[in-house]
Amino acid sequence: MNCTVCGNPLLFDRVVFHCSCGAFVHAHCWDKHVLQTHKPTFEVGSVDLNGEFKPRENETEEQTQVKQVTTSN
Ligand SMILES: [Zn+2]
Ligand SMILES: [Zn+2]
Repeated sequence: MNCTVCGNPLLFDRVVFHCSCGAFVHAHCWDKHVLQTHKPTFEVGSVDLNGEFKPRENETEEQTQVKQVTTSN
């Protein structure tokens, strides 16, 4: 069985994440899987000295456009 993110084999002695969508991924590939497959909405910004989140204007990604890597064989 291979990781759906990186394509490398899942090893029996390593932690494997089984996503609710059915994908099996390495623990270190998990965030990539979530970002690429499930595309959660998020805001890009920074935290000021008061600990308040300040979203950056024009960088709010409501519709995350992930560059699709097209492999041409
Ligand atoms: Zn992987
Ligand atoms: Zn998933």
